[in-house]
Amino acid sequence: MNSLLLTGGRVIDPANHLDQTADILITNGKIAAISPAAAKQAPPNIERMDVAGLVVCPGLIDLHVHLREPGQTAKETIATGTAAAARGGFTSVVCMPNTSPTIDNSGTVALIHERAAKQGVVNVFVAGAITKGIAGEELAPIGSLKRAGVVAITDDGHCVQNNEMMRRAMEYAKMFDLPLMDHCQDYSLVTDGVMHEGYWSTALGLPGWPAAGEEMIVARNILLAEMTGARVHCQHISTAGSVKLLREARRRGVPVSGEACPHHFTLTDVAIAGSEKFWQADGKDIFGRDFERPSWPAYDTNFKMNPPLRSASDREAVLEGIVDGTLDILCSDHAPHCDYEKEVEFDSAPFGITGLETELALSLMQLVHSGRLGLPDLISRFTVAPARLLGLAKGTLSIGADADVTVINPDHEWAFDKTASASKSGNSPFDGWRLKGKAAATIVSGRKVWAEEVEMSAN
Ligand SMILES: [Zn+2]
Repeated sequence: MNSLLLTGGRVIDPANHLDQTADILITNGKIAAISPAAAKQAPPNIERMDVAGLVVCPGLIDLHVHLREPGQTAKETIATGTAAAARGGFTSVVCMPNTSPTIDNSGTVALIHERAAKQGVVNVFVAGAITKGIAGEELAPIGSLKRAGVVAITDDGHCVQNNEMMRRAMEYAKMFDLPLMDHCQDYSLVTDGVMHEGYWSTALGLPGWPAAGEEMIVARNILLAEMTGARVHCQHISTAGSVKLLREARRRGVPVSGEACPHHFTLTDVAIAGSEKFWQADGKDIFGRDFERPSWPAYDTNFKMNPPLRSASDREAVLEGIVDGTLDILCSDHAPHCDYEKEVEFDSAPFGITGLETELALSLMQLVHSGRLGLPDLISRFTVAPARLLGLAKGTLSIGADADVTVINPDHEWAFDKTASASKSGNSPFDGWRLKGKAAATIVSGRKVWAEEVEMSAN
């Protein structure tokens, strides 16, 4: 059980600076050997997978996922969300605490751990809330959340507006050695904004969400991280100004980091004016001439997320931030919503899109196939970097490590079809897109939980 031999793949393990053709021997759920001759050490009856021509890397980690359980299981469950993660190549996810009830106490953390052990197909790590009920008024019991096993704290979906409270939260986070992750949004500036404030919000008559509404809080977080020494991670960075602030702060040694999501480095605000406008304007140079350009109407609520799609220069700055390591973590912000919730006017639709099954392909296309970033550097942003931030013993193929492994075919061309998704929800702007690059197999503790054409069930 849980033993497997992967032969002939290109093994890329950024944590160990490894990039070579080798066999990987997994025994009892752990990495036992990696070498061109590892097959010779394998017991004769071991299950074999020929992965020649494919990339084999540490299991991918997505540290920003909304699993919606408990309380919002019409949108997603631990079972369906982790199945979508497995299909996307992810062996570990971190679930956000804006559930119902919110993850602001040790009981809810225990409940999720218990359900994830029974129903999850990949590892589920839990982020606890910063404030009770994510209401921003009173701190959550951060010490007891830490003892219950949370790997970070965040009020994601909301942002703590009170600076004194954020300072105290950072002091507790530091005391308990937890990273504090923040959804950066200044409410007084953003008010009722639903899309990026600029030409297109005016043209479309929608309330604007100004870039400064994010940058204000990124700047606040940098100042407080410097003051408290806490590790502060800014979630889903979307603007050029935020990238600039983080780059400068990291150069000075402030313990801040940032993450980027594929929708922010692929799409722009023009997409809300419909596909025709997007492909004529900001979309015209992406993915090259052969890319089949999908279509969608104006005001499509699958292009509404928080923070919103930004301008082309913001998109470019986010890509540059990823390439130079300012944004050293990639994630989906997978945020499922029911069709009936999204099938309303743009103004009143909830923010958020699904992303677990498309993020690897979009990242490969925009970063690796475009020639901006090498494959090992892309893999590091999905493995060792999030593992380091969260203090997880994951994200590496070191001998003795848990055998969480992703097999990737970077050149596989396929179309994303939301009706065939493992997620319970279909609110993706990338439905029908032809994509390049896909997980071929996802292995958790030596067990294949997903492989192209073959689906496995939980336990
Ligand atoms: Zn958020």
